[in-house]
Amino acid sequence: MDSITVIPGDGIGPEVVECALEVLDALDAGLSIDVLDHVHADRYRREGQALSEADLSRISASSAVLLGAVGRPDVEETGYVRDVLLRLRISFDLYANYRPVRLMHDRLSPLRDPARRMLDCAIVRENTEGLYSGIGGNLRASSPQEVAIDADVNTWHGVSRILDFAFSTARREVCLVDKANAVRAGGRLWQECWRHAAERHPGTATRHLYIDAAAMKLVTEPDRFDVIVASNSYGDILSDLAAALAGGIGVAPSASLNPQTGFGLFEPVHGSAPDIAGKGVANPFACLLTTALLIRHLGHEAEAAAIDAAVAGSIAAGRVTPDLGGSLSTRQVTQAVLASL
Ligand code: ATP
Ligand code: MG
Repeated sequence: MDSITVIPGDGIGPEVVECALEVLDALDAGLSIDVLDHVHADRYRREGQALSEADLSRISASSAVLLGAVGRPDVEETGYVRDVLLRLRISFDLYANYRPVRLMHDRLSPLRDPARRMLDCAIVRENTEGLYSGIGGNLRASSPQEVAIDADVNTWHGVSRILDFAFSTARREVCLVDKANAVRAGGRLWQECWRHAAERHPGTATRHLYIDAAAMKLVTEPDRFDVIVASNSYGDILSDLAAALAGGIGVAPSASLNPQTGFGLFEPVHGSAPDIAGKGVANPFACLLTTALLIRHLGHEAEAAAIDAAVAGSIAAGRVTPDLGGSLSTRQVTQAVLASL
């Protein structure tokens, strides 16, 4: 039996995870579930660490983690979120960030022209290097002569493995997005690895766009995209853009994967949303679609499809929370989803 670890976390995390657990229970998908409900900001405050070695070994014993959200304004500056997410990312070498983006109903699209609305693609973002590697520093800090430098780290190994993962998930095409015309050294490395990766996957069409053109084309021709692969920073930006075209963070799922081991950390794109936490109005769809992604990853395709269909059905029927223009609470939406399962 597959087992999953659940970290409800902070803010609206536990509210949306509760909905996901009820749905999993109703589906009877044959998963064993280990809930780590002691991993949160209070513990970090008390003990200086939210995720202990014992927690990490419980997580290691499972096939995947479902995470609600971590973060609270009063502990934010202490590096709490970075501590939790980075330790999971590094411990399990979760180098591939996978964000499928599908418009589930026309009413969620911000675009006026119906012909431009079709969107069913995935952003594959490199998750371990690039501009977010933390290497750099400030020369003559806090002076008018200050120079700030952040290194953009790209390795043959890191780039090749994310490209291979992108090809492995493609249905028809992989589009590489970079800025090789302006960012020379890294651009050349990506281009070279890209040529080799394309040769390793001759059955898949390829396309290349610079980041500026890609941002424009995602809006003007969203239906042309299948898999988009990009570095850490470009992938970050494009996945928010794509999520906005599909209805926003209330419906945006995400997975950080290690394709070699199969281990994954699954979390909604949204954060802990302190402004609405405790009010009972958090949209549970992003967490439900994330749960579908997780169980699909573990091979439970029928149950995953059932969750997707139940969410799409609720959206079509207007049974949605205020962020999507409805008036239902998290509980009422959960009831609607459970009823349609
Ligand atoms: P983080 O730093 O963790 O990414 P953030 O402050 O950038 O957090 P979110 O916590 O995602 O962003 O919240 C951004 C806005 O979106 C907030 O106004 C929040 O209330 C809203 N929001 C986020 N998630 C949801 C949700 N599931 N349902 C409804 N509104 C949400
Ligand atoms: Mg954010």
